[in-house]
Amino acid sequence: MNKIITFGKEHLIFVLEILFFFVFLGMLLSGDISRDHKFVSSLFIVFLLLGCSFLFLSEQRKKFALAEDQKRQNERFQKLSELTLEFSRIPFVPERLPEITPKLTSFFTELLQTNRFLLYTKKGRAYQPLISGFLPVTELGKTSFRFGNEFICLLKSKEGICDLSDQEFIQSIKMPPFLRTLYQEHQFDSLIPLVAESELWGIVLYQAKEKPKGTGGETVLELKLTSLLLHQITSNLERQNLSNKLNEFEKKIDASANQYTADLTVLNRDIKRKIFDLNTMVELVKTLYSGLEEEGLFSSLSRMIQEHLGAKSTLMMLPQKENGDLLGKHFYGIQVFDLIGKESISELCIPKSTPLYNWIKNEKHIWQLFNLQKLAGEEKLLKSMLASGFQVGAKLSFTRDSFGVIFLGEKSDGVKYRQMDLDILSILINTTVMAYKNIIHYKSLEELSYIDGMTELYNYRYFYKRLTEEVHRAKRFDRKLALVILDIDDFKTYNDNFGHQAGDQLLRQLGHLLSRTVRSIDVVSRYGGEEFCVIMPESSTEECLKFMERLRKSIMNFPFKSEVESGGEEFQKHEHNITVSLGGAIYPQDAHTVDRLIYCADMGLLKAKSQAKNRSVMYEEQLSVVSR
Ligand code: GH3
Ligand code: MG
Ligand code: MG
Repeated sequence: MNKIITFGKEHLIFVLEILFFFVFLGMLLSGDISRDHKFVSSLFIVFLLLGCSFLFLSEQRKKFALAEDQKRQNERFQKLSELTLEFSRIPFVPERLPEITPKLTSFFTELLQTNRFLLYTKKGRAYQPLISGFLPVTELGKTSFRFGNEFICLLKSKEGICDLSDQEFIQSIKMPPFLRTLYQEHQFDSLIPLVAESELWGIVLYQAKEKPKGTGGETVLELKLTSLLLHQITSNLERQNLSNKLNEFEKKIDASANQYTADLTVLNRDIKRKIFDLNTMVELVKTLYSGLEEEGLFSSLSRMIQEHLGAKSTLMMLPQKENGDLLGKHFYGIQVFDLIGKESISELCIPKSTPLYNWIKNEKHIWQLFNLQKLAGEEKLLKSMLASGFQVGAKLSFTRDSFGVIFLGEKSDGVKYRQMDLDILSILINTTVMAYKNIIHYKSLEELSYIDGMTELYNYRYFYKRLTEEVHRAKRFDRKLALVILDIDDFKTYNDNFGHQAGDQLLRQLGHLLSRTVRSIDVVSRYGGEEFCVIMPESSTEECLKFMERLRKSIMNFPFKSEVESGGEEFQKHEHNITVSLGGAIYPQDAHTVDRLIYCADMGLLKAKSQAKNRSVMYEEQLSVVSR
């Protein structure tokens, strides 16, 4: 340990005494000394001894003072290390104040020897008093303050203890007025910013017994102790803040996890419902697409609206072929009787000329009927519909100009139609319209597939299907049915003589002749090649034979024309007469099945051919033959 030795009064006396002693000794040795001088010399020696003792005692006192000082410092460090250790275990939160306050108080009172101190800590963006050494914090008036950014920045750049009696310093830190009043009122002379990780965690205001700006050992120790403890406080605050943040974060995670679970549950329920709706929709769409009949399609739509949307009643109006007026077609529910009264459903009409028709025509898709209330004055039907509780209307747009409409009565559960209901209705309507268009296309395609391209008569496929239907009908109504098959005589020779083109022209002309000759209920088809057949519902053997003969004769007398290119732009025009052979059979007397009936008619034809052709033969045990 370095000891600084100062040259004091006692040292001066000691040096002077030594000097006198050597002067006296010199005088004694030279014999130049009197009795008086001897007394004076003895007095000097006494003084010399006293001086030595004084010097010795003074040195001893200093040593003792240093030892005392050392002891006090050791105690302070001891106390500080204890406090530091304890502070490290206690979080700086209001709940722990009863533990913190006495410890911090003991730091200020015992180590810094003051009881006037005040600790502000950061809470959110404000600073609030946490511990006060001389009065309860509740008596400090307004409890929390916001420091200006500039003030916070300046404090952050300071280290250790700031001297509040230094006016220059006070000016430089731009202290907020309330703080200035506070430190003046309570005579604080020191301020310690608690800074860690570029954050001002708090400030300590206190009244130091001795100013820290001095250079004595006491001040150095004080600074060291204070900074150590404050470091502990700031790191404690930091830790506390981190743990708060962590807690907050955990809470947020918990909250978002809960929210996420709740969202997931809702989503799951929505998905399940959507899957159910989708499955239902798929079933509905399948049903709507499964039929190939318009009637079935529209009645399915009405049924589905009633079943799945809960409509008490539905009224469908479809365009009339002739003029496009909307006529009542399908309905469901007793409410419709309010509209119909004693009349039939087809009496309900929205004529093309009416405002209601035009309103629907211009409307896009689905609408609430109350939107049409202004038209109700002029439209009787609309008025009655509104009175009967009809709520929704939807348009079925078949083509640009052709459309139908379906009206929905109120829901059976009494609630209004939800958006989801209207969405389902929209899908059902669209599907119905598409299915309707499909049916129309299918029908026209089917019709084409039943037509023979050359003669424009029905082909064999249609013939067979129609014959089956007619046999069933004849069976059901217990009626007769005649079938005639006819074959051109010697057509091969005709082709050979006039060419296949002429043969084709003949086949076409024969087709037209057949169509003209038969009754409207008869069905003429090309059986194949140069063979034709006629289905004659409700015809007996006599009627059939009579018809065959009439036909045979008209063919025999018909001038078939041919016009065949003969080279260049020349055409050879001819007129021809042909004959045909005919075979006939009757359901049920000759056959009970379609195939058997064809067979029997064919047998008649075969007989006719075998009997020199150009004749009509009914299938019978004894053939009825009419000769030329
Ligand atoms: P038959 O009196 O015994 O009926 O004598 P046929 O010559 O009419 O007898 P067959 O049934 O053997 O011949 C039918 C002929 O009809 C053969 C074929 O050249 C002709 N024919 C079949 N279909 C067509 C067609 O679409 N156009 C033309 N031009 N001829 C056809
Ligand atoms: Mg033939
Ligand atoms: Mg023939």
